[in-house]
Amino acid sequence: MQDEMNATKQMSERSGEHDDLPADLGIYLHVPFCIKRCHFCAFYLVLHEEQRVEQYLQAIEQEIALYASQPGMRERTVATVYVGGGTPTVLRPEQLALIFSNITSRFYLSEQCEITVEATPESLKDKYVDFLQQAGVTRLSIGIQSFDQQERTMLGLSGTRAEAKANVQNAKQAGFSNVNLDLIYGIPNQTVQSWEMTLGYALELDPSHLSCYALSLEKGTRFYNEFRRGLFEVMDPDHEACFQEQAEVQLETLQWSRYELSNWAKPGFACQHNLRYWRGLEYLGLGPSAQSFVSDSRFGNVSSLEHYSKYLMTGQLPIASKEVLSRFQREKERIVFGLRLLEGVPIDWVYRASLDESWAESYETLVEEDYLLPTERCVQLTRKGRQFADTVGMRLL
Ligand code: SF4
Repeated sequence: MQDEMNATKQMSERSGEHDDLPADLGIYLHVPFCIKRCHFCAFYLVLHEEQRVEQYLQAIEQEIALYASQPGMRERTVATVYVGGGTPTVLRPEQLALIFSNITSRFYLSEQCEITVEATPESLKDKYVDFLQQAGVTRLSIGIQSFDQQERTMLGLSGTRAEAKANVQNAKQAGFSNVNLDLIYGIPNQTVQSWEMTLGYALELDPSHLSCYALSLEKGTRFYNEFRRGLFEVMDPDHEACFQEQAEVQLETLQWSRYELSNWAKPGFACQHNLRYWRGLEYLGLGPSAQSFVSDSRFGNVSSLEHYSKYLMTGQLPIASKEVLSRFQREKERIVFGLRLLEGVPIDWVYRASLDESWAESYETLVEEDYLLPTERCVQLTRKGRQFADTVGMRLL
């Protein structure tokens, strides 16, 4: 292995392969408002109130202006914009339009820029959907979670399954062809049959992308507190795997590809913004709690609207934490994030990181334990590795 490592190292050094990251940028923009908090949700958010929205709009305008004035920023092409939350669509059209105009007037967006907006189904009424179309939004990501009414109630979701379905249809009819639906499996008492039904309902709506997430218990959520009080049990990982297999059966028959552990797409509809995270490309996070990866640094904004606003109103960036990554850290991270992609990571990334003996030892052990599968060109998670991807990631960091 050492010979192969040296040969690949020399080859990579000669060609400079993978060293020159493209200069384009992704922008993530966090809108921290929701009408209420769902029982499983741990994202940073505050309940929607007009006064808070005004405070936020002033602050984010200032944050966008501060970044745009940094040397080199305005010259960078923005390849993706992802407006997430919270629920961006609780903002009135003119409020969201103001944010878009701040971004487009201060950054250069590529012609094919993917512009995603997250939405709850109930927010996608006629006029709002038309506004999103006219504003140039190219992709909608809709938080459905489940089409089973009992599960919806348990998750603390608003609206009925029929309303959710009607509003997604509304968005499709308005001309949105690139639509993601977020779904959750592993809900207490959920059966594979009810998951099959949720997937079936979702597919009837003809989305282009599905994100299927396992329910995770996050501290501070209502679910977490109920679990601590013994009100339900978490699903056994082996049983959870049956839900993934069910998704595989239903989606692969339709030629969808599972391009990332939790993400499925029709050909040509992988989420370009999220691919940036897994491919180690740069992105700038705006808004309270947003995270960034720019110029070898990871940094995160303060998770408090009050503090976020105070920083910006005094002309300071609202950064609460920052870490400059060493080359080796970047290499390790790139492998760990890249392994989430079903295509895996190039084998020469592994050879390079393996110059560190202790890392090489962890890697070899994971191969021996059948979590990782190296081939001539790449390394991928095995079926077992996909089931325990977080543990594999921790062992490689
Ligand atoms: S709507 Fe989305 S962001 Fe808001 S509480 Fe529910 S899951 Fe969280």
